[in-house]
Order: sequence, then C-alpha cells, then structure tokens
Amino acid sequence: MLLKERTEPHDLVVLRYLNNRMELSAKDQFQLSTLEKGYAGEVMFDQKTEHLSEERYIIDDLLLQVNNSFFQLDKVIIARDAIHLIDVKNFVGDFYLDGDKLYAVKNGREYKNPITQLTRSATLFRQLLQNLKLNHIVHATTIFINPEFTLYQAPMDQPIILPTQTNRYIKELQNTPSKLEHSHQILAQKLLSLHQVKNPFSNLPDYDYEQLEKGIYCKNCYSFNTYVQKFDLVCGKCGTHEKIGDAVLRTTEEFKLLFPEYRITSANIYKWANSTFSNKTISRVLQKNFAAIGKNRHTYYE
Ligand SMILES: [Zn+2]
Repeated sequence: MLLKERTEPHDLVVLRYLNNRMELSAKDQFQLSTLEKGYAGEVMFDQKTEHLSEERYIIDDLLLQVNNSFFQLDKVIIARDAIHLIDVKNFVGDFYLDGDKLYAVKNGREYKNPITQLTRSATLFRQLLQNLKLNHIVHATTIFINPEFTLYQAPMDQPIILPTQTNRYIKELQNTPSKLEHSHQILAQKLLSLHQVKNPFSNLPDYDYEQLEKGIYCKNCYSFNTYVQKFDLVCGKCGTHEKIGDAVLRTTEEFKLLFPEYRITSANIYKWANSTFSNKTISRVLQKNFAAIGKNRHTYYE
C-alpha cells in the first residue's frame, strides 16, 4: 500500500523554470540534468514496485532528521521481515569501485560513493528506531536501475543491486510472505509525521524577477514565440495549441513557485506573461482556480 507518493523535487521544477527564462551557469545546468536523471530513475523503480502486494507499506521520498542530521530515503518498504531502505541510482556508463571510491571508466571522474551515503542513512535510521523504542530489522540497498550501467569490480558483499538483478530483487521481495502488524502501522505513521518538508540540501542559484525573461513559453518546445488565437495559446515555432485557461494556470503556478513572496494578482500575472493575455482573461482564470481575497483593484488570490 502506497502511503506517500513521489512528486517532482522542488529544486528540479524551479531549475526547469529558470532554464527557460535565464541563462543557467554550467554548474546549474549540470545540477538540472543530475536531478532530471535521478528523478527519472526513481520513477522507473516506482513502476517496477507498484504491483507489490498490499501487505507492505511503501513511503516514497522521505526526508528525515535524526540527531541533527538530515538524510533522504528514496523509498521505504515496510514489510514483515524487514524495513527496506532503498536508494535508486540512475547512472549510465561504465564505472568501477576502487576501495570505497567510485569512478567513471571513461574520464576517471570520481563520484560520491552511493554505498557510503546509504550506510550513513541506514545508521541514522536505526538510531531513529532506537529513539522510538521500535525494534525492526533494517535492510538498506542501492539499486542501479539503468540497464546501461556497468560496475566493474563490484564486490559481492556490498548492498548493491545491479540492473541485471533488479527484477529478481523485486520478485524476491514479492515472494516473501508479509503480514503486517500494529507495530508496522505505528512505524509508518511515525515516519510520515517526521517527514521534513523543507529540504536542507536545496541548492538553487540566486535569481530575481527583473532578470528573468517575461512572457509565456510554449509547453512543448519552450519558445516564447506564442500568441493568442481565439481560445488557444498557439506556438509560432512548433504550432502547439494550448487552451488559454490551461496556459494562464500554468504560468501562474510557475510564478507562484518562483516567487512565493509575491501576491498572485491579475496585474502581476499580466506583467509576468508579458501582456500575452488580457487582464479580463487572467482574472477569469484566477477566479475559477484560486480563492479571491479582497475586492476590485486590490484582489489577490491564494
Ligand atoms: Zn512550441
């Protein structure tokens, strides 16, 4: 049973928006592509585990704080035999382990060893169980999900699941009988209540309203070359049509996420969309989708 679903990481969505409206540095471009790949890998693994039987609790994307240390768990599966902490890595290419260091074969670049990270998370998780006076066996595993990943010199005693082993790993999980008890439910509820919403690992570039390109870009090709035609926003580059209501809503959500400190008003969205839509159209869409606060010129939306 899925208790908490995965959503697109906040930093990923913000970087996507910024990428459309400003020039990202090479470092931020790299961060964006790392987040895209990581998220895609997690979703790939979610699809493989979505048919696990009901007698397991699944919590995706859990961020916990134990003894002042934060740690993130891609997936927690609470089963009768054990609590499975799963870290998913979407690395592509040939890698090798040398001692506890991980390198890419192609360019010798060193990567953070996911096993070190996983071991730390598992230790903190066990401490948490101890603090809660709960007694469960914990299994921590790093799953390399991408079929194009190869790990040379992979030690057999490490908690690693390689792409060729993923399906067997899930089958084994599925074939282990699991009847949950009250204590599992307590643990699941406790974990959900301890989930941290604000991510301390967030690492976004500085940006301000003035420096971002205004307008509304095509949802398909991200071109700002768009115009209104009857009830649609039309892309002058790729020809994609989008209902005006959807386009206004999309650009408002973007504005809201990038500038949580600004009020959503039709004047602000009008400016943000670089007068692509009339004030009347914007007001109509905002009224339909948000709660209006205040009157006339002073109306804002939440
Ligand atoms: Zn387009």
